[in-house]
Amino acid sequence: MIDILEFTLEQLSQTFAKNFGKGRFHAQALFRDIFKQGNTNFLSSPEFLNSPKFSKALEGKISLNPGEVVKSFDEGELTKFITRLGDGLEIESVVIPMTRHNTLCVSSQVGCKMGCKFCETGRMGFKRNLTISEITGQIYNARHNLGKDIKNLVFMGMGEPLDNFANLMGAVQVMNEQQGFDIALRHMTLSTVGLVPGIEQLAKLDMPGLRLAISINAPDDATRSRLMPINNRFPLAALKKSLINFPLSKRGIFLFEYILIKGLNDSPVHADLLADFINPLPVRLNLIAYNPVKGLDYESPSDKEMHAFADLLSAKGIMVIKRWSRGRSVAAGCGQLGRVSMETGRGIICEK
Ligand code: SF4
Repeated sequence: MIDILEFTLEQLSQTFAKNFGKGRFHAQALFRDIFKQGNTNFLSSPEFLNSPKFSKALEGKISLNPGEVVKSFDEGELTKFITRLGDGLEIESVVIPMTRHNTLCVSSQVGCKMGCKFCETGRMGFKRNLTISEITGQIYNARHNLGKDIKNLVFMGMGEPLDNFANLMGAVQVMNEQQGFDIALRHMTLSTVGLVPGIEQLAKLDMPGLRLAISINAPDDATRSRLMPINNRFPLAALKKSLINFPLSKRGIFLFEYILIKGLNDSPVHADLLADFINPLPVRLNLIAYNPVKGLDYESPSDKEMHAFADLLSAKGIMVIKRWSRGRSVAAGCGQLGRVSMETGRGIICEK
Protein backbone atom coordinates (compact mmCIF):
# COMPACT_ATOMS: atom_id res chain seq x y z
CA MET A 1 0.00 0.00 0.00
CA ILE A 2 1.30 3.46 -0.89
CA ASP A 3 0.60 5.81 2.02
CA ILE A 4 0.78 8.87 -0.19
CA LEU A 5 1.34 11.45 2.58
CA GLU A 6 4.67 9.76 3.37
CA PHE A 7 6.17 10.30 -0.09
CA THR A 8 8.31 12.91 -1.76
CA LEU A 9 7.88 13.25 -5.50
CA GLU A 10 11.18 11.48 -6.13
CA GLN A 11 10.24 8.56 -3.87
CA LEU A 12 6.84 8.19 -5.52
CA SER A 13 8.34 8.35 -9.03
CA GLN A 14 10.79 5.61 -8.09
CA THR A 15 8.05 3.46 -6.56
CA PHE A 16 5.92 3.81 -9.70
CA ALA A 17 8.90 3.01 -11.91
CA LYS A 18 9.89 -0.04 -9.88
CA ASN A 19 6.43 -1.55 -9.46
CA PHE A 20 4.50 -0.40 -12.51
CA GLY A 21 7.01 0.72 -15.12
CA LYS A 22 5.60 4.27 -14.92
CA GLY A 23 7.27 7.32 -13.48
CA ARG A 24 7.41 11.01 -12.80
CA PHE A 25 4.59 12.11 -15.13
CA HIS A 26 1.95 10.26 -13.14
CA ALA A 27 3.60 10.99 -9.79
CA GLN A 28 3.43 14.71 -10.61
CA ALA A 29 -0.27 14.40 -11.48
CA LEU A 30 -0.95 12.76 -8.12
CA PHE A 31 1.04 15.39 -6.27
CA ARG A 32 -0.89 18.18 -7.99
CA ASP A 33 -4.25 16.58 -7.25
CA ILE A 34 -3.63 15.44 -3.69
CA PHE A 35 -1.09 17.79 -2.14
CA LYS A 36 -1.99 21.00 -3.99
CA GLN A 37 -5.73 20.53 -4.54
CA GLY A 38 -6.83 18.07 -1.87
CA ASN A 39 -8.68 16.04 -4.50
CA THR A 40 -9.59 12.65 -3.07
CA ASN A 41 -10.82 11.32 -6.41
CA PHE A 42 -7.29 11.42 -7.72
CA LEU A 43 -7.36 8.59 -10.26
CA SER A 44 -9.90 10.58 -12.29
CA SER A 45 -7.39 13.12 -13.64
CA PRO A 46 -6.67 13.12 -17.42
CA GLU A 47 -3.22 11.61 -16.83
CA PHE A 48 -4.79 8.51 -15.27
CA LEU A 49 -7.85 8.39 -17.54
CA ASN A 50 -5.40 8.16 -20.43
CA SER A 51 -3.57 5.27 -18.76
CA PRO A 52 -6.45 2.89 -17.92
CA LYS A 53 -4.21 -0.13 -17.32
CA PHE A 54 -2.03 1.73 -14.87
CA SER A 55 -5.08 3.23 -13.13
CA LYS A 56 -6.56 -0.25 -12.77
CA ALA A 57 -3.29 -1.56 -11.35
CA LEU A 58 -3.22 1.29 -8.82
CA GLU A 59 -6.81 0.83 -7.65
CA GLY A 60 -6.86 0.14 -3.92
CA LYS A 61 -3.09 0.50 -3.66
CA ILE A 62 -2.93 4.19 -2.72
CA SER A 63 -4.18 5.39 0.61
CA LEU A 64 -4.73 8.94 1.77
CA ASN A 65 -5.03 9.01 5.56
CA PRO A 66 -4.63 12.44 7.11
CA GLY A 67 -6.86 11.41 10.02
CA GLU A 68 -10.33 12.74 10.71
CA VAL A 69 -10.79 16.25 12.05
CA VAL A 70 -13.35 15.65 14.76
CA LYS A 71 -13.47 19.06 16.41
CA SER A 72 -12.22 22.59 16.01
CA PHE A 73 -12.31 25.65 18.26
CA ASP A 74 -12.01 29.22 17.07
CA GLU A 75 -10.84 32.28 18.89
CA GLY A 76 -10.87 35.09 16.40
CA GLU A 77 -8.71 33.81 13.59
CA LEU A 78 -6.89 31.27 15.75
CA THR A 79 -8.14 27.73 15.24
CA LYS A 80 -7.30 24.65 17.22
CA PHE A 81 -8.34 21.34 15.71
CA ILE A 82 -8.40 17.78 16.91
CA THR A 83 -7.57 14.93 14.58
CA ARG A 84 -8.62 11.37 15.34
CA LEU A 85 -5.99 8.89 14.16
CA GLY A 86 -6.58 5.41 12.80
CA ASP A 87 -6.23 3.79 16.23
CA GLY A 88 -8.65 6.23 17.90
CA LEU A 89 -5.98 8.37 19.59
CA GLU A 90 -6.32 12.10 19.10
CA ILE A 91 -3.84 14.85 18.44
CA GLU A 92 -4.21 18.60 18.39
CA SER A 93 -2.87 21.23 16.03
CA VAL A 94 -3.26 24.99 16.04
CA VAL A 95 -3.54 27.44 13.18
CA ILE A 96 -2.05 30.75 14.28
CA PRO A 97 -2.66 33.85 12.16
CA MET A 98 0.52 35.83 11.51
CA THR A 99 0.92 39.18 9.73
CA ARG A 100 0.63 37.82 6.20
CA HIS A 101 -0.06 34.08 6.42
CA ASN A 102 -1.00 31.38 8.88
CA THR A 103 1.40 29.29 10.90
CA LEU A 104 0.50 25.71 11.76
CA CYS A 105 1.64 24.34 15.10
CA VAL A 106 2.24 20.64 14.43
CA SER A 107 2.31 17.66 16.81
CA SER A 108 4.99 14.98 16.50
CA GLN A 109 3.94 12.44 19.17
CA VAL A 110 0.82 11.35 21.02
CA GLY A 111 1.82 12.39 24.50
CA CYS A 112 5.37 13.09 25.55
CA LYS A 113 8.13 11.51 27.64
CA MET A 114 9.74 14.78 28.68
CA GLY A 115 7.50 15.61 31.64
CA CYS A 116 8.04 19.38 31.75
CA LYS A 117 6.40 20.57 34.94
CA PHE A 118 4.80 23.73 33.56
CA CYS A 119 3.09 21.74 30.82
CA GLU A 120 -0.41 20.57 31.55
CA THR A 121 0.07 17.55 29.35
CA GLY A 122 3.66 16.73 30.20
CA ARG A 123 2.29 15.03 33.29
CA MET A 124 0.33 12.51 31.30
CA GLY A 125 3.05 10.37 29.80
CA PHE A 126 3.75 9.04 26.36
CA LYS A 127 1.50 6.99 24.08
CA ARG A 128 3.36 6.70 20.79
CA ASN A 129 5.26 8.41 18.00
CA LEU A 130 3.33 9.79 15.06
CA THR A 131 4.05 8.27 11.67
CA ILE A 132 5.22 10.47 8.80
CA SER A 133 1.72 10.64 7.33
CA GLU A 134 0.17 11.49 10.71
CA ILE A 135 2.53 14.46 10.89
CA THR A 136 2.02 15.59 7.28
CA GLY A 137 -1.72 14.85 7.59
CA GLN A 138 -1.99 17.87 9.90
CA ILE A 139 -1.05 20.31 7.13
CA TYR A 140 -3.26 18.40 4.67
CA ASN A 141 -6.24 18.80 7.00
CA ALA A 142 -5.46 22.44 7.81
CA ARG A 143 -5.29 23.35 4.14
CA HIS A 144 -7.82 21.11 2.48
CA ASN A 145 -10.38 20.37 5.17
CA LEU A 146 -10.27 23.65 7.11
CA GLY A 147 -9.34 25.85 4.14
CA LYS A 148 -6.42 27.57 5.88
CA ASP A 149 -3.59 29.16 3.95
CA ILE A 150 -0.57 27.70 5.73
CA LYS A 151 2.89 29.08 4.90
CA ASN A 152 4.83 28.42 8.12
CA LEU A 153 5.19 25.39 10.34
CA VAL A 154 6.31 25.19 13.95
CA PHE A 155 6.91 21.79 15.52
CA MET A 156 5.74 22.90 18.93
CA GLY A 157 2.62 20.83 19.36
CA MET A 158 2.25 17.57 21.20
CA GLY A 159 5.54 15.80 21.89
CA GLU A 160 9.25 16.39 21.55
CA PRO A 161 10.07 16.40 17.82
CA LEU A 162 13.69 15.26 18.21
CA ASP A 163 12.43 12.23 20.16
CA ASN A 164 10.73 11.07 16.94
CA PHE A 165 13.67 11.96 14.77
CA ALA A 166 13.33 9.67 11.74
CA ASN A 167 9.61 10.27 11.17
CA LEU A 168 9.93 13.97 11.84
CA MET A 169 12.71 14.34 9.29
CA GLY A 170 10.73 12.24 6.80
CA ALA A 171 7.77 14.57 7.30
CA VAL A 172 9.98 17.65 6.90
CA GLN A 173 11.11 16.31 3.52
CA VAL A 174 7.53 15.66 2.41
CA MET A 175 6.33 19.08 3.56
CA ASN A 176 9.30 20.74 1.88
CA GLU A 177 8.54 19.10 -1.52
CA GLN A 178 8.06 21.92 -4.01
CA GLN A 179 5.42 20.11 -6.05
CA GLY A 180 3.62 19.09 -2.89
CA PHE A 181 3.05 21.15 0.26
CA ASP A 182 5.94 23.42 -0.72
CA ILE A 183 6.90 24.81 2.68
CA ALA A 184 10.43 26.20 2.54
CA LEU A 185 12.83 24.96 5.22
CA ARG A 186 13.32 28.54 6.41
CA HIS A 187 9.59 28.61 7.14
CA MET A 188 9.83 25.61 9.46
CA THR A 189 10.85 25.85 13.11
CA LEU A 190 11.65 22.80 15.15
CA SER A 191 11.31 23.37 18.87
CA THR A 192 13.12 21.13 21.33
CA VAL A 193 13.54 20.92 25.09
CA GLY A 194 17.25 20.46 24.42
CA LEU A 195 17.62 16.81 23.51
CA VAL A 196 21.36 16.99 22.90
CA PRO A 197 21.77 13.77 20.84
CA GLY A 198 18.93 14.94 18.57
CA ILE A 199 20.53 18.37 18.13
CA GLU A 200 23.83 16.64 17.24
CA GLN A 201 22.05 14.34 14.78
CA LEU A 202 20.31 17.32 13.21
CA ALA A 203 23.63 19.15 12.93
CA LYS A 204 24.93 16.32 10.72
CA LEU A 205 22.10 16.72 8.20
CA ASP A 206 22.48 19.26 5.50
CA MET A 207 19.30 21.26 6.11
CA PRO A 208 20.20 24.91 5.75
CA GLY A 209 17.43 27.19 6.80
CA LEU A 210 15.49 24.85 9.09
CA ARG A 211 15.15 26.90 12.24
CA LEU A 212 15.91 25.53 15.67
CA ALA A 213 14.09 26.76 18.75
CA ILE A 214 15.20 25.79 22.23
CA SER A 215 12.85 25.78 25.17
CA ILE A 216 15.19 27.17 27.85
CA ASN A 217 12.91 28.40 30.65
CA ALA A 218 15.66 28.66 33.25
CA PRO A 219 19.30 29.74 33.12
CA ASP A 220 20.67 27.54 35.94
CA ASP A 221 20.65 23.76 36.29
CA ALA A 222 18.83 23.69 39.62
CA THR A 223 15.82 25.70 38.42
CA ARG A 224 15.81 24.12 34.97
CA SER A 225 15.92 20.56 36.32
CA ARG A 226 13.02 21.44 38.58
CA LEU A 227 10.98 22.60 35.61
CA MET A 228 12.30 20.25 32.94
CA PRO A 229 13.54 16.79 33.98
CA ILE A 230 15.44 16.45 30.68
CA ASN A 231 17.98 18.86 32.19
CA ASN A 232 19.13 16.10 34.54
CA ARG A 233 20.26 14.10 31.50
CA PHE A 234 21.51 16.99 29.41
CA PRO A 235 22.42 19.93 31.62
CA LEU A 236 22.91 23.45 30.36
CA ALA A 237 26.65 23.09 29.69
CA ALA A 238 26.06 20.11 27.38
CA LEU A 239 23.21 21.93 25.68
CA LYS A 240 25.32 25.01 25.09
CA LYS A 241 28.16 22.93 23.66
CA SER A 242 25.79 21.30 21.16
CA LEU A 243 24.53 24.74 20.12
CA ILE A 244 28.01 26.19 19.73
CA ASN A 245 28.83 23.28 17.39
CA PHE A 246 25.56 23.55 15.45
CA PRO A 247 26.13 24.66 11.84
CA LEU A 248 23.88 27.69 11.59
CA SER A 249 23.44 29.22 8.17
CA LYS A 250 25.05 32.59 7.54
CA ARG A 251 23.12 35.14 9.59
CA GLY A 252 21.14 32.25 11.13
CA ILE A 253 19.97 32.54 14.71
CA PHE A 254 18.57 30.25 17.38
CA LEU A 255 15.19 31.00 18.82
CA PHE A 256 15.08 30.62 22.58
CA GLU A 257 11.77 30.29 24.39
CA TYR A 258 11.59 31.36 27.99
CA ILE A 259 8.31 30.99 29.83
CA LEU A 260 8.38 33.55 32.60
CA ILE A 261 6.88 32.20 35.83
CA LYS A 262 6.31 34.53 38.75
CA GLY A 263 8.74 33.95 41.63
CA LEU A 264 10.46 31.01 39.94
CA ASN A 265 12.63 32.17 37.04
CA ASP A 266 11.94 35.89 36.87
CA SER A 267 14.52 37.55 39.15
CA PRO A 268 17.31 39.91 38.05
CA VAL A 269 19.77 37.10 38.89
CA HIS A 270 17.96 34.82 36.44
CA ALA A 271 18.15 37.55 33.80
CA ASP A 272 21.92 37.91 34.35
CA LEU A 273 22.51 34.16 34.18
CA LEU A 274 20.36 33.89 31.07
CA ALA A 275 22.37 36.61 29.35
CA ASP A 276 25.58 34.74 30.27
CA PHE A 277 24.17 31.49 28.87
CA ILE A 278 23.16 33.14 25.63
CA ASN A 279 26.49 34.88 25.08
CA PRO A 280 28.04 34.41 22.42
CA LEU A 281 25.24 32.50 20.65
CA PRO A 282 23.17 34.39 18.09
CA VAL A 283 19.74 34.25 19.72
CA ARG A 284 16.34 35.81 19.50
CA LEU A 285 14.57 35.29 22.79
CA ASN A 286 10.83 34.81 22.94
CA LEU A 287 9.78 35.77 26.45
CA ILE A 288 6.40 34.18 27.07
CA ALA A 289 4.18 35.05 30.03
CA TYR A 290 3.17 31.80 31.76
CA ASN A 291 -0.46 30.84 31.21
CA PRO A 292 -2.23 29.62 34.34
CA VAL A 293 -2.99 25.90 34.16
CA LYS A 294 -5.61 24.17 36.29
CA GLY A 295 -3.97 21.97 38.94
CA LEU A 296 -0.54 23.64 38.78
CA ASP A 297 0.67 26.12 41.38
CA TYR A 298 2.69 28.35 39.10
CA GLU A 299 1.63 31.95 38.64
CA SER A 300 1.67 34.34 35.70
CA PRO A 301 3.94 37.36 35.92
CA SER A 302 2.35 40.80 35.85
CA ASP A 303 2.86 42.92 32.75
CA LYS A 304 5.24 45.09 34.78
CA GLU A 305 7.35 42.04 35.71
CA MET A 306 7.46 40.90 32.08
CA HIS A 307 8.68 44.32 30.94
CA ALA A 308 11.25 44.54 33.76
CA PHE A 309 12.74 41.11 32.93
CA ALA A 310 12.83 41.92 29.22
CA ASP A 311 14.47 45.29 29.88
CA LEU A 312 17.28 43.67 31.87
CA LEU A 313 18.05 41.37 28.93
CA SER A 314 17.72 44.09 26.32
CA ALA A 315 20.20 46.19 28.30
CA LYS A 316 22.69 43.35 27.77
CA GLY A 317 22.17 43.47 24.02
CA ILE A 318 19.79 40.51 23.72
CA MET A 319 16.99 40.64 21.19
CA VAL A 320 13.81 40.01 23.18
CA ILE A 321 10.27 39.57 21.92
CA LYS A 322 7.58 39.64 24.59
CA ARG A 323 4.63 37.36 24.11
CA TRP A 324 1.41 37.04 25.96
CA SER A 325 0.20 33.64 24.68
CA ARG A 326 -2.86 33.82 22.54
CA GLY A 327 -5.65 31.34 22.80
CA ARG A 328 -6.30 31.19 26.52
CA SER A 329 -10.03 30.79 26.07
CA VAL A 330 -9.62 27.71 23.86
CA ALA A 331 -6.80 26.26 25.96
CA ALA A 332 -4.42 26.76 23.07
CA GLY A 333 -1.84 28.87 24.84
CA CYS A 334 1.62 27.62 25.70
CA GLY A 335 1.45 24.49 27.84
CA GLN A 336 -2.33 24.32 27.61
CA LEU A 337 -3.01 22.48 24.43
CA GLY A 338 -3.83 19.18 26.08
CA ARG A 339 -6.91 20.19 27.92
CA VAL A 340 -9.52 19.04 25.47
CA SER A 341 -7.92 15.70 24.72
CA MET A 342 -7.21 15.17 28.39
CA GLU A 343 -10.91 15.39 28.95
CA THR A 344 -11.56 12.74 26.33
CA GLY A 345 -8.69 10.66 27.68
CA ARG A 346 -7.54 9.82 24.16
CA GLY A 347 -4.50 11.98 23.76
CA ILE A 348 -2.53 14.92 25.00
CA ILE A 349 -0.66 17.85 23.63
CA CYS A 350 1.34 20.83 24.66
CA GLU A 351 3.28 23.66 23.19
CA LYS A 352 6.83 24.21 24.35
S1 SF4 B 1 6.48 21.15 27.01
FE1 SF4 B 1 6.74 19.91 25.13
S2 SF4 B 1 8.51 18.63 25.60
FE2 SF4 B 1 7.77 19.42 27.56
S3 SF4 B 1 6.34 17.85 28.31
FE3 SF4 B 1 5.13 19.34 27.16
S4 SF4 B 1 5.07 18.42 25.09
FE4 SF4 B 1 6.71 17.45 26.14
